[in-house]
Amino acid sequence: RAVSAYQVRSALKHDLNPFTKQPHTAQYKKILESRNKLPVFAQMTEFYKIFNKHQIIIVVGETGTGKTTQIPQFVAYSDLPHTKNKIVACTQTRRLTTTAVAQRVADEMDVQLGQQVGYSIRFEDMTEPGTTFLKYMTDGTLLREAMNDPDLTCYSTIILDEAHERTLATDILMGILKNLVRRRPDLKLIIMSATLDALKFQKYFAVSGTPAPLFKVPGRTHHVEVFYTQEPEPDYVEAAIRTVLMIHRAEDPGDILLFLTGEEEIEDACRRIRLEADDLFNSDPESVGPLACIPLYSSLPPQQQQRIFDPPPKGSSPDSPPGRKVVVSTNIAESSLTIDGIVYVVDPGFSEQRVYNPRIRMESLLVSPISKASAQQRAGRAGRTRPGKCFRLFTEKDFMSELEEQTHPEILRCNLANTVLTLVKAGIKDLIEFDYLDTPAPESLMRALELLNYLAALDDDGNLTALGSIMGEFPLDPQLSKLLIASPEFKCSNEILTITTMLSVPSVWLRPLNQQKEADATKALLTVPDGDHLTLLNVYNSYKENSHNKNWALNNYLSARVLTEADNVREQLKRTMERFEVELISVQDQKKLFLAIRQALCCGFFMQVAHKEGDKGNYMTIKDNQARYSLAVVALHPSCGLDTQPEWVIFNEFTLTTRPYIRTITDVRPDWLLECAPCYFDLNHWPDSETKRAMMRVMLKRGSMRFPIQAAGKKKRKTAR
Ligand code: ADP
Ligand code: MG
Repeated sequence: RAVSAYQVRSALKHDLNPFTKQPHTAQYKKILESRNKLPVFAQMTEFYKIFNKHQIIIVVGETGTGKTTQIPQFVAYSDLPHTKNKIVACTQTRRLTTTAVAQRVADEMDVQLGQQVGYSIRFEDMTEPGTTFLKYMTDGTLLREAMNDPDLTCYSTIILDEAHERTLATDILMGILKNLVRRRPDLKLIIMSATLDALKFQKYFAVSGTPAPLFKVPGRTHHVEVFYTQEPEPDYVEAAIRTVLMIHRAEDPGDILLFLTGEEEIEDACRRIRLEADDLFNSDPESVGPLACIPLYSSLPPQQQQRIFDPPPKGSSPDSPPGRKVVVSTNIAESSLTIDGIVYVVDPGFSEQRVYNPRIRMESLLVSPISKASAQQRAGRAGRTRPGKCFRLFTEKDFMSELEEQTHPEILRCNLANTVLTLVKAGIKDLIEFDYLDTPAPESLMRALELLNYLAALDDDGNLTALGSIMGEFPLDPQLSKLLIASPEFKCSNEILTITTMLSVPSVWLRPLNQQKEADATKALLTVPDGDHLTLLNVYNSYKENSHNKNWALNNYLSARVLTEADNVREQLKRTMERFEVELISVQDQKKLFLAIRQALCCGFFMQVAHKEGDKGNYMTIKDNQARYSLAVVALHPSCGLDTQPEWVIFNEFTLTTRPYIRTITDVRPDWLLECAPCYFDLNHWPDSETKRAMMRVMLKRGSMRFPIQAAGKKKRKTAR
């Protein structure tokens, strides 16, 4: 029968752990005390009242009230998944929060991570089949599971957390699960959100006209006083650093949270803050305390992430001011991670957001202004434990008139190719009619279908091809999975496997600020001038050749952690290749091999091509060279290792920093592009431009060759299927 809060509270206080039958540890009891203080914990009775009665519920509560850590445990006590071979799943929108929260909950339940409580993220499964009954996972991982098992049979309850973030995968999962709960009356669904506009979710999950029930966790936030700048700040990083130091000098004790946009910016700011704060402290330790500056971004190694929970440093003596901690974070700390002790928030008003322009088929990470809702979330971080202050580094007028109300859901601004392939593979035919919370622009859907068609994953009628079906098995973007599957034709699949791996892990290059020259010099030694993709291959191969030397990575300014991760990722991708009989072969001759690799790369990246214009180092990306597209002219990123400026290049990524750049570049020949994707290079639809004329010259030169080659290209595609 339905569990009651009374029963659960007694079980928690029991001496024996009900899941391991071991006595509870002292740490367990200590954590239980702090759990007892969480607002969600106080609401256990109300939670069960609603949860026991309904199949779908919406949970809303301020960040830090205990939703993510407590609700899945409540559900586990109710479902008793371990007694019926089921699992309770809770999704997160980021890898970092998934692993951190799983570790925390394993500690709370007094079990070993990976046993009763586990996590699953792309390329890393920390669960034990048959044992794990509470699983934290990224929304992307659950979406992939839905592709292979549309009924998600192993789950008794699915909790979609951070739904307010409206990531692409969570949005799609909502649509899929809304449908699934009708087919599976035994499956329960919880949508959790940190912002208070739950009505949209309630209506979306309405049952015969009645909105889904809401479980509202009362927040315990204190007042936060908000300050604006008088004038717009020309350099927000500079302004942010000044503000942090001002708080440190002049404000009462309490930790600071500063929001910046990405790793480089954060590391740079941390270095500058440390320098100045150390100066302040050393020159006058009696009136200024020490300042610990801690970065937080997704590619940070786990032990370093944990530092955000460290207490602030102590003052130099009992009578001098206490120390302070400043956490410099991406918007991870906006709603998904709670740092206790924050009293001051510094908010420049920007975050890095994925933006896709379907017209030019280009997705990029752009530093963009945040929404009002985000700004409010950020300010709220200051009022967790006592009244706080939020310093916004923009004017009140800009806040009122310039910021959007809500951040646009990712589905409205993302490349949908991956998702469309997943949906088609999950058997969802009508993408236009699919029940979206917010329907994406038909143009984005069309572009995604078109891209998958160019990659031959979908046929001309939009049906999944055999090739597309295998592509869907790889946890990769379609361009990369296509590249992997096509690579045996070029006799370089071992190498393409390595390159794909290196493109799927964080950047391997280290460039410490005081050793940039040395780092660049060693990088030059590993560089292959024909292309950055070949350089990545060379780095991995050299790493393997030197595996006996523990210091090799460090000595070469490479991240040993990323290289180990690459080993693991490569092994997993290799297993999928073997499962689908994608042959692993290599040409022996090195010169031929490099040529084959560059040629093979065109199979995946023919849509990411740039052509050199003039001799000023400018490149045009294809299909967007009309004046009205401001992003048309790009330059090779300074990190690029090419020793010449080839006429045609393919690139992995587009970034916009001081100017538009393309990154990770390889020199290719236009003939290869035409051979890989004859349908894509249909010049009739290209705007008149130097690039078009150049491609036309190539085609003319091929002259009578054109037809046989197109036919050969088609045949090639068939064998790939
Ligand atoms: P919500 O999901 O509502 O934002 P959480 O369940 O994530 O809240 O967090 C509740 C509380 O648990 C936090 O305020 C924090 O004090 C504590 N907590 C969570 N993770 C950790 C951790 N790794 N270390 C220490 N405390 C943590
Ligand atoms: Mg949470």
